[in-house]
Amino acid sequence: MSQSNTPILLDRPDAPLVGGYEVIIGFETHAQLSTQSKIFSRASTAFGAEPNTQACAVDLALPGTLPVMNKGAVERAIQFGLAIGAHIAPKSIFARKNYFYPDLPKGYQISQFEIPVVQGGLIEFFLNEKKMSVRLVRAHLEEDAGKSLHEDFVGQSGIDLNRAGTPLLEIVTEPDMRSSAEAVAYAKELHKIVTWIGICDGNMQEGSFRCDANVSVRRPGGPLGTRREIKNLNSFKFMQQAIDYEVRWQIEQIEDSHKIQQATVLFNPDTGETRAMRTKEDAADYRYFPDPDLPPLCIAQSWIDEVRSHMAELPRAMAARFEYSYGLSEYDATQLTQSLALSNYFEAATKVCGQAKLAGNWIMGELSRRLNNQDIGIEQAPLKAETLGALITRISDGTISNNAARQVFEVLWEDATATVDGVIESQGLRQMNDTGALEKIVDDVIAANAKNVSEFKAGNEKALNALVGQIMKASKGKANPQQVNDLLRAKLR
Ligand code: ADP
Ligand code: MG
Repeated sequence: MSQSNTPILLDRPDAPLVGGYEVIIGFETHAQLSTQSKIFSRASTAFGAEPNTQACAVDLALPGTLPVMNKGAVERAIQFGLAIGAHIAPKSIFARKNYFYPDLPKGYQISQFEIPVVQGGLIEFFLNEKKMSVRLVRAHLEEDAGKSLHEDFVGQSGIDLNRAGTPLLEIVTEPDMRSSAEAVAYAKELHKIVTWIGICDGNMQEGSFRCDANVSVRRPGGPLGTRREIKNLNSFKFMQQAIDYEVRWQIEQIEDSHKIQQATVLFNPDTGETRAMRTKEDAADYRYFPDPDLPPLCIAQSWIDEVRSHMAELPRAMAARFEYSYGLSEYDATQLTQSLALSNYFEAATKVCGQAKLAGNWIMGELSRRLNNQDIGIEQAPLKAETLGALITRISDGTISNNAARQVFEVLWEDATATVDGVIESQGLRQMNDTGALEKIVDDVIAANAKNVSEFKAGNEKALNALVGQIMKASKGKANPQQVNDLLRAKLR
């Protein structure tokens, strides 16, 4: 399979337009694989070491050294391929991509070119409750380069080669995205998958998950525009800002009758602008050729089967199970499988209360809102899943109303030692289950509101709400509204 320069474009009549232009985006993502050692050497990949203490002779390709493939990196590539339904090549080839850059003193990067290890596959996700899918072209194994350090030196630059030889999986999409929002949703889904299966720690600040966005614009139905590639986007927020700026810039250029030049650009978060770094090379400029130091990478079916047998349930399979065994909608099931921790929380709460739908609603509603407000993950939620389950049990068995449950939730959130039943008692939130006492209130309210009663009997349904309101008030909110309704209707028949 060779790299094609003519992507197969999907017809997307639903694509949103910007000033009459269709936006076309394809992604190349570098996911750092979570191996302990480098892709072709035994040097450590740990983050944050003193510069140049973790690059060995193999990483620098010093004379007389030979690279040796790291089995763990291949395993992770296989896991990724299985997770996204791709073809895993039985035989793929490592190639040298030749270029000069200060952070690549050896003059070439070992990558895969014509035959990558992972071919095809699909990433599916929801955007505003609409299901979308992005086709992958390929995912290939390669080594990272070093890093130029500009900040620490006055008037000089340094080179840190610790990162040289760090294993990467470069994941390339077809140009299937049509807006910055779609692009960010895709990147989040991809991030979810690689962290879920544990092949990448997903730490974007440390550069473990870096996205390059290829962006072009065209008139709908017209010829494909020239793309510019925004490099190294390492936050979802910057991703959206950078693409939005780039799209506006390209449209302005075209409107001013300028031609877009294929280029590599950088996003500056301080100015919010993208700026050309270099005009883009073509594949031919890199003089790719098979690396003579590395044999073909051969993956037997038995190895693939072995890897598959150790893989945990994947997000999509889990979502399908949630739909099937808990009767959730596809949307809810997808929301609840946004991370392994979230899905575990949901299942633990449901196990306690047996009310999957209610548990899902509470988790995606009240709980998510609070997590977002405090900017914490579900792992840090002060309210344990079992406690939420116990709270939901008290709603479904009629002990407390939904409103009262919200009050209990509030207390439980603030006080880790509080218990559901304890809070219900101490705050006096128990619904009135004593029918005798409730009936007395109902009778009193009926007697005192003759006007509403006769209006209701004359067919005005709204008059009943007024009566319900009075009764709820008289019961200090502890009556069960449904029960009040039933009693009233029975008495006024
Ligand atoms: P290269 O070999 O230069 O990296 P590729 O053909 O591999 O180019 O494409 C790189 C990325 O650019 C892919 O994600 C692809 O989907 C995307 N892409 C290709 N053409 C366009 C285009 N006209 N507009 C936006 N993205 C594009
Ligand atoms: Mg490419």
